[in-house]
Amino acid sequence: MSPMLRTDRLYDFVVAMTHLANAHGDAEDAMLERARPLLADLIAKDDWLPEPFTRPDATRYSQYLLHCDPLERFSLVSFVWGPGQRTPVHDHGVWGLVGMLRGSEISIPYTRSEGQPALRAGAPERLTPGCIEAVSPRLGDIHEVANALDDRPSISIHLYGGNIGAVRRHVFDPVTGASKMFVSGYSSGVVPNFWQHARS
Ligand code: FE
Repeated sequence: MSPMLRTDRLYDFVVAMTHLANAHGDAEDAMLERARPLLADLIAKDDWLPEPFTRPDATRYSQYLLHCDPLERFSLVSFVWGPGQRTPVHDHGVWGLVGMLRGSEISIPYTRSEGQPALRAGAPERLTPGCIEAVSPRLGDIHEVANALDDRPSISIHLYGGNIGAVRRHVFDPVTGASKMFVSGYSSGVVPNFWQHARS
């Protein structure tokens, strides 16, 4: 690990999020509003993410757990997209904030029209470093995400209002509207050690 790596910034983020969760619990509006500047601050500089959590996989996008609140009120995940990789159309079931750290990704929102089984794609949104996108069952929870770059990896940092790797959620066939339950899990069983930088 590089001695210059600012894992103390990850530590500070987790501490601040823990205080937020203590103060606002499962109040989605308050959590989304107050967590956004914390995430913005974390992704403002690409100087804190340990290298093992930046590695693309040749076969599919990676979801590395960085931290899960012991009470499962929030979790933080590093999403690493290999060139050209994309998700299926999916939902989350909890609130989420997606912050772009490195490279670029494209998110396409989907909505359901009354009485129509098919999902309708909205305007694609391109995220560049520093951009944050919000999702939740209330705000709009269904989207499809892809690496916008076909020649290198992209990395986004995802904050969710639960232990996202264990949440029962859905993938969709946008043409038929058919959905299938899935649980994403995480790509690795290890988490970064930011405690060595904790204040004494
Ligand atoms: Fe998503």
